[in-house]
Amino acid sequence: MEVDGTLVVSLIDRTAERRLEAEREAWRQLQDNLALTLTDNMPAGSYVLHRQVDGRPHFDFLSRRLLAMLGLEREAVIADPMLPCRCVHPDDAAGFLDAARRIFTAGGPFGWQGRLLVAGQIRWVRIEAEPRLRPDGLPAWDGMVTDISEQQRIEEELRIANGNLEKLAATDALTGTWNRLHFEQRLEDEIARAHRYGEPLSLLLLDIDHFKAINDRHGHQLGDRVLVEISRRLARQMRDTDLLARWGGEEFVAVLPHTSARAAGALAERIRGLIPTLSLPGVGAVTISVGVAQLQPDDDLNSLFQRVDRALYGAKEGGRDRVVQA
Ligand code: GH3
Ligand code: MG
Ligand code: MG
Repeated sequence: MEVDGTLVVSLIDRTAERRLEAEREAWRQLQDNLALTLTDNMPAGSYVLHRQVDGRPHFDFLSRRLLAMLGLEREAVIADPMLPCRCVHPDDAAGFLDAARRIFTAGGPFGWQGRLLVAGQIRWVRIEAEPRLRPDGLPAWDGMVTDISEQQRIEEELRIANGNLEKLAATDALTGTWNRLHFEQRLEDEIARAHRYGEPLSLLLLDIDHFKAINDRHGHQLGDRVLVEISRRLARQMRDTDLLARWGGEEFVAVLPHTSARAAGALAERIRGLIPTLSLPGVGAVTISVGVAQLQPDDDLNSLFQRVDRALYGAKEGGRDRVVQA
């Protein structure tokens, strides 16, 4: 029994030993493959590149994910290390090559963000590479290529949404022209510029005549239609550099950079003549009164507005449907 006993113990011993050995082997294998397992499964592509003695680049490693991103075969990149550069979007290629060449020659960390164009598909990526010296003294870079397309898409959407919001905050909801707040901000800039360069600048203040009566007779909704139609007609008479805004109610204001009082008066007169020709079903001929003022050397926004307001008042007092110069 004693012999049997010894035999049993030794059997158990060996089983435990074998299990331990198998575990050690599995651990060794995991360690051997750990770098590869990690780099191939990382959410980013990775590579190792070094500068050879002859100054040419050589890829020591390209992860499967990176090769998939580039749509390239490992062997092809090893044979021609410039191949991945051709995956950069043509519009971004010059910047990429510049940055890559600079770092490749001078050393240091590499960072770049731009577009790849692979198989007709655009992908935004960020490339980051850390430099190091190899045991043989040659410079090498350990790099990572992250797909940031989704992030870019969201940022682009945000940019558009912000742009839309800004536009919304600056426009008049009914007529789509600029609103008073935006107009005042822009007018400040235009006045400053005109003063700085000694250029003429004129202001028009336009008010629909007897608009209350139009509302009373035809209803507020048709009144709104009249406002929209008139604002369109006004906008069509403006140049690209002019700025037309709804000042409030049935009043519009326009700033005309590079324009003297005489030219502004001529434009105002043309507009005044055009408005009654608008065909607004059910509404008779609508007329407007216009005040015109040119910026004077000692004018600021307030004094300019006071003068154009007085001119408009003069037009109303003078019988409406007319243009008065400040
Ligand atoms: P005047 O010739 O002296 O300018 O007379 P007016 O009737 O045009 O001027 P008043 O200031 O007495 O009346 C302006 C009217 O404009 C009163 C107001 O109800 C109307 N109004 C202001 N904003 C709007 C709007 O957004 N839509 C409509 N339909 N009417 C508006
Ligand atoms: Mg009016
Ligand atoms: Mg008014």
